[in-house]
Amino acid sequence: MNMLSEGRPTRQDENINTGANSAPQTHTGNRALIVDEPLIFETGSPDRSGVDLPDAPDVETCLGGLERHQPIAIPGLSEAETVRHYTRLSRQNYAIDVGLFPLGSCTMKHNPRLNEKMARLKGFADIHPLQPMESVQGALETIYQLAEWLKKLTGMPAVAMSPKAGAHGELCGILAIRSALEARGDAREVILVPESAHGTNPATAAFAGYKVEDIPANAAGRVDLDALKARLGPDVAGVMITNPNTCGLFEPDMKAISDAVHEAGGLVYCDGANFNAIVGRVRPGDLGIDAMHINLHKTFSTPHGGGGPGSGPVVFSDALAPYAPLPFVEKKDNGHYYLVEEETAEDHHDVSFGRMVAFHGQMGMFTRALTYMLSHGADGLKQVSEDAVLNANYILRSLEDTLDAPFAHSGPCMHEALFSDKGFAEGLSTLDLAKGLIDEGYHPMTMYFPLVVHGAMLVEPTETESKAAIDQFIGAFRSVAERAKSGDEALKSAPHFAPRHRLDETRAARKPILVWEEPEELVEAAE
Ligand SMILES: *Cc1c(COP(=O)(O)O)cnc(C)c1O
Repeated sequence: MNMLSEGRPTRQDENINTGANSAPQTHTGNRALIVDEPLIFETGSPDRSGVDLPDAPDVETCLGGLERHQPIAIPGLSEAETVRHYTRLSRQNYAIDVGLFPLGSCTMKHNPRLNEKMARLKGFADIHPLQPMESVQGALETIYQLAEWLKKLTGMPAVAMSPKAGAHGELCGILAIRSALEARGDAREVILVPESAHGTNPATAAFAGYKVEDIPANAAGRVDLDALKARLGPDVAGVMITNPNTCGLFEPDMKAISDAVHEAGGLVYCDGANFNAIVGRVRPGDLGIDAMHINLHKTFSTPHGGGGPGSGPVVFSDALAPYAPLPFVEKKDNGHYYLVEEETAEDHHDVSFGRMVAFHGQMGMFTRALTYMLSHGADGLKQVSEDAVLNANYILRSLEDTLDAPFAHSGPCMHEALFSDKGFAEGLSTLDLAKGLIDEGYHPMTMYFPLVVHGAMLVEPTETESKAAIDQFIGAFRSVAERAKSGDEALKSAPHFAPRHRLDETRAARKPILVWEEPEELVEAAE
């Protein structure tokens, strides 16, 4: 691949073909709204300025000789140039507000604007975590109400609101498990994780100091219960199981798994990132689960993926509730809300494992998630999960004639449809299909995950897509899949209609260029 002196790949003009090489070359390199936006350092330069300011008067500094004498070398641009640069860059992003976002396991659903309106109310948006509690009663009540909803929906007696993402919630749950085991003087070393688990599960267990061992999947894409039972023993602290799992399937043996783990003295962590498929239908508490994180930024429609911070509250069983982290909100008899910040014996909070964060968690996400719940109501939330599952099954059944769907024979899927690359022409892969989808105007699906399926493609439409939008996506997906099966060479160099084409992704991952350096010829010219 040719690289510019700035270390960026050159435009592959030869790839700008619309089939018959008929597209004219443009003077700017832009193609209508596909703008070839340079780096800000290439547009502006340190010796230009966007504003005219008089030279600063001489002042005595108290920096003791540490003051800067060199210019800071940031590119000088006018306000208009700066606004255009960032607006153009933002238009190169695919976003949930631009189109269907089929990433499996991520639940990329529409973020209702009502949520945004509520989060921007001054009483929520303009408060400070160190304000006196009496002056933020409404905010504390919001956190409390959301906590009550989460406990009700999961059938679990306690919840920690402070974790700031799913993976952070996993750590919170595993630390509570470790505290509970240590409290009974039972230091166990191993956490069992199914082969199909999200990468964050084994990473969390290892980060918390556990040895991680795989549990195999059976032919139906579920946890192999016999293999799990055979491995349980006095060294196993617990299991981390995703339900519905990352093959998009419900684990029907979940209660039997929990019972077996408990009998062997371990505890059960459930990765609840896929809760959107079962809200209002199944309560994890009824399945014997001890801890589960809920991604508010997936199931409860708060923005994510560059759109905002995550939030990963963790619900706990009675066995783990005493070890839950501080702080949490309590309602006093006088109707006032109170943030419990200290471990005190008289409040029975003396065995909490500590804190996950400095304050109370992501207030803006709490407001959005509670708005979402209240605007749907209990019946509406149940319908959400039913519609999400219906939409995924519609995709699975519409495409199983074209694409291999490894677990379609074992019945309906949950919220996401899984396909494999079986039947693709020699030399064409899941990656090529993903790139072909970019030309169709879609963000690609999740690919090569879960690892138990060769060339996996995981598609999650969510409930917020209309039938027309899903039909159009199915049409595009089928068309690209047929090109992959028939060996269409052009797919190998897709995307053709994007500002950059096939990048050297290995090099980008292994040797990322994160800091702009002045190109050598400029340095030489200046000398
Ligand atoms: C998204 C996801 C996670 C991690 O959640 P983050 O909020 O991204 O940290 C964990 N497990 C599964 C199955 C997920 O889909």
